[in-house]
Amino acid sequence: MNLPALDRARIAIIGAGPTGLGAAHRLRELGLTNFTIFEKESHAGGLASSYVDRAGFTWDVGGHVQFSHYDYFDNLMDQLLGDEWLHHEREAWVWMRERFIPYPLQNNIRNLPPNEMRDCLRGLIACGRDRVETHPANFEEWIYRSFGEGLARHFMLPYNFRVWAYPPSELAYDWIGERVAQVDLERIVLNIVDGRDEVSWGPNNKFRFPRRGGTGEIWKRLAASLPAGAIEFGKAISRLDARNKQIRFTDGSTESYDILISSMPLDDLVCVSDLDNLKPAAAKLCRSATHVIGIGLKGAPGPHLKRKCWMYFPEDQVPFYRVTVFSNYSPANVPDSSRNWSLMAEVSESPAKPVECAKVVEQTVHGMLAARLIESAADVVSTWHYRAGHGYPTPSLGRNEALSVLLPGLEHYAIFSRGRFGAWKYEVSNQDHSLMQGVEVVNRLAHEGEEITLNRPNEANRPRAAKTATAGKSW
Ligand SMILES: Cc1cc2nc3c(=O)[nH]c(=O)nc-3n(C[C@H](O)[C@H](O)[C@H](O)COP(=O)(O)OP(=O)(O)OC[C@H]3O[C@@H](n4cnc5c(N)ncnc54)[C@H](O)[C@@H]3O)c2cc1C
Repeated sequence: MNLPALDRARIAIIGAGPTGLGAAHRLRELGLTNFTIFEKESHAGGLASSYVDRAGFTWDVGGHVQFSHYDYFDNLMDQLLGDEWLHHEREAWVWMRERFIPYPLQNNIRNLPPNEMRDCLRGLIACGRDRVETHPANFEEWIYRSFGEGLARHFMLPYNFRVWAYPPSELAYDWIGERVAQVDLERIVLNIVDGRDEVSWGPNNKFRFPRRGGTGEIWKRLAASLPAGAIEFGKAISRLDARNKQIRFTDGSTESYDILISSMPLDDLVCVSDLDNLKPAAAKLCRSATHVIGIGLKGAPGPHLKRKCWMYFPEDQVPFYRVTVFSNYSPANVPDSSRNWSLMAEVSESPAKPVECAKVVEQTVHGMLAARLIESAADVVSTWHYRAGHGYPTPSLGRNEALSVLLPGLEHYAIFSRGRFGAWKYEVSNQDHSLMQGVEVVNRLAHEGEEITLNRPNEANRPRAAKTATAGKSW
């Protein structure tokens, strides 16, 4: 690959989500303006956008929690919103067997019915005793080996099918890292003996949220900080001529580039390109769609919901796998905080788990009544439904092999596909990772650093890992 120097190249960026904005922001830091972002929507933010419904409720595309592995990201967030942040302590719960249990369930099994608690404990003891040295073949095997039969059957397998919309036997397990709380048997037993619940766990046990405007406010501000004209909205790429370095848009216009940084979904990018040799690998990527259902309510949350952030649902009695008490994130998420509150549900969809689109809002309200999140359907004053066709990049068994063909195959033509669906790596697909993928690819092109997030996700996810992106050379 022969690339022109960054300061002399025509740089095209596809997508004004966190990845595209991160790349643009870093180029600006380096003193460069020779780039344009092409965004198909009329606003910036991508999946991290927020929307206001007709009744005045604000919604994210699923509960977005702001936490980060990077000083660079945190500093940028401080710069963008200053003191307009609200700070929260995470309270996550599981609803099962007609009760709320603090998350992670494995640390709080004392709350299960006695026979199920016994199953879980027996399984945990057995998997500590019967250690197997070979690598598990898939996520399901990893679950059995890490948590034992009881927890696998009662929670981990049903819950993970509901989140991923694929059977865990079809997923890899190398994405896990810090994302799934692992087992500390001594602590679990002591929690049972001492009658103690553990409510806060994990990398995001504290998080912050914009005072107003939802998560999307962050990305609106970053977009507004770019020079006028840096983003062209309403520009949907319909054809990529990689060999001649030209993109065509649905409005018939075309643009030439020297370097293309793309954050649109990788499967879509390859599909509209002339790179037929990459199409078989792109067809191997799996994803799930996410339905986000916002339920605007009158009154106030019940006392049991007053401090909860979100709840997980492993049982089929309800359509959703997760519900966020979104009005707890900011009073500005509802039209009048003295009269309203809000819940936001997420429902996964894939060929292995179809969803009846026309019925999902009604099913959500019924599910919320069944789980006693709301008392009466008459309290619902507004509903909002958004379907993200690309919701979760599935860490399927064939993913890494497909990516090992796709990403270098595109780079050969000076195309750098990055971000949640650009790089298709779930383990580095949150807002912080996505922004940093944009920043780090620019650093690499500027010979300023490596792409740690893309290439070494475990290192990126280590608490405050060595980070590359800081101020540096400028042209
Ligand atoms: C349900 C859900 C919950 C989440 N929760 C969290 C959370 O709690 N914390 C967190 O940090 N992150 C969370 N995320 C992830 C977060 O949304 C992503 O990290 C982030 O939005 C990814 O940024 P991106 O720029 O890579 O991709 P995107 O946000 O998808 O941006 C890609 C952009 O490309 C544009 N585009 C697509 N196709 C074309 C085309 N043909 N032509 C031109 N433009 C195009 C899109 O319109 C979009 O603006 C969540 C995501 C989902 C779906």
